[in-house]
Amino acid sequence: MPPEPTSRAVPPRTRFAPSPTGYLHIGGVRTALFSWLHARRHGGVFVLRIEDTDRERSTEASVNVILEGMRWLGLDWDEGPFFQTQRFDRYGEVLQRLLDAGHAYRCYCSRERLEALRAEQMARKEKPRYDGRCRTRTGPPPEGVAPVVRFRNPVDGTVVVEDLIRGRVAFQNRELDDLILARADGTPTYNFTVVVDDLDMAITHVIRGDDHLNNTPRQINIMRALGAEPPAYAHVPMILGPDGKRLSKRHGAVSVLQYRDEGYLPEAVLNYLVRLGWSHGDQEVFSREEMIELFDVREVNKAPSAVNPDKLLWLNQHYIKTLDPALVARHLAWHLERLGLDPTGGPALEEVVAAQRERAKTLVEMAANSAFLFREPEGFDEKAAAKHLGAAQRPILEVLRAKLADLEPWTREAAHAVVTGVAEDAGAKLGKVAQPLRVALTGGTVSPPIDVTIYLLGRARTLARLDRALAHAAGAGAAEPG
Ligand code: GLU
Repeated sequence: MPPEPTSRAVPPRTRFAPSPTGYLHIGGVRTALFSWLHARRHGGVFVLRIEDTDRERSTEASVNVILEGMRWLGLDWDEGPFFQTQRFDRYGEVLQRLLDAGHAYRCYCSRERLEALRAEQMARKEKPRYDGRCRTRTGPPPEGVAPVVRFRNPVDGTVVVEDLIRGRVAFQNRELDDLILARADGTPTYNFTVVVDDLDMAITHVIRGDDHLNNTPRQINIMRALGAEPPAYAHVPMILGPDGKRLSKRHGAVSVLQYRDEGYLPEAVLNYLVRLGWSHGDQEVFSREEMIELFDVREVNKAPSAVNPDKLLWLNQHYIKTLDPALVARHLAWHLERLGLDPTGGPALEEVVAAQRERAKTLVEMAANSAFLFREPEGFDEKAAAKHLGAAQRPILEVLRAKLADLEPWTREAAHAVVTGVAEDAGAKLGKVAQPLRVALTGGTVSPPIDVTIYLLGRARTLARLDRALAHAAGAGAAEPG
């Protein structure tokens, strides 16, 4: 029996190959997400490769941002991170193989010659390209010139890319010149390292931005010269800003960690990104599991898609409201710490999430609205205190304090009963009791429902804050004339 065709039998191996030259932008993350989804959907392997050969522009800080962003999003990799700068010996080896086989040659053309050639071609309105002078050079190499190594690109024929998104794209070899594989100082170039790595890492599907589409026929030619079959390719269209121009910093947040810092959940960001250029009917909300189950790279839109910040905010709110509070709590803890608060020094975070989630669009908002639970308010909001913490409110606050001091059990329901009971006894509307209490406990007039506020704050803090408010009210009373 003939063996199974390998394309069907072998689970895919995909990769994300960022260059660590800046922040991790959402276009890159979307490419990573698509690659990751393709691997996960088909039980394959997702490789992370850091393309750091541009030593001038690559930074360790940027590598850390990439790793941090991927981890925050939960885009876990199975192999790597591999660093290209640690693979120079390997690139040297493959380069020698190409030279030995005559698929590559040393080029001694001076910069001046290449510049003059370029100028002439431009003047003739031709596309600038190397004219291949050193392709056939013989005799001893010129003295004192460090050569570059060029690929001997086939001169005729067509390279066809059966792109999984774009469909068939054909390139004429005569349009491609002999690209440089290694510079005069011996360092390998992007198109060469990618080929070596994609082959060594046995990548079956290259999913990447369509800014690389023009590199693909060159890379395919090099692979074939090495006797290898190229992987499948999927070139993902770019992301546009709301104004239809290529997304850039001036459109606001484009770094994925900035979304984290602004209080978005990774679930919301992933859901948002998966829908930028891919759809499944009119479904908008996709859990991680659903994305894995439904994503098909062949369905990615050919046309670029534009960001839609309102939708991201909507999704964020959706996930804040519907995700397991324990999960949201982990992110809330991070935001509380960022505010300099100790998330363990207050009520259980899951309960805070449950109490606050209807009222917060972002975790930044939720953390700010919850800060009073973790630290003493600095003082009372002046206007609120003038209105609600005067001599007139003292009797009510005193009764509340007495009842809350003995309240058993300390539950939301019991707290509710205290507040409504005090209002009834005083023949007052609920607000006349709840609002002074709110100012006493939080320093201001905005908080979750008063019973939830009491419950979350706990007995000790509640009583201490009431005492402070009573002292304030006493002071206010003393200051009043008469
Ligand atoms: N390092 C390249 C980039 O960040 C990606 C190369 C590739 O995916 O082939 O644009």
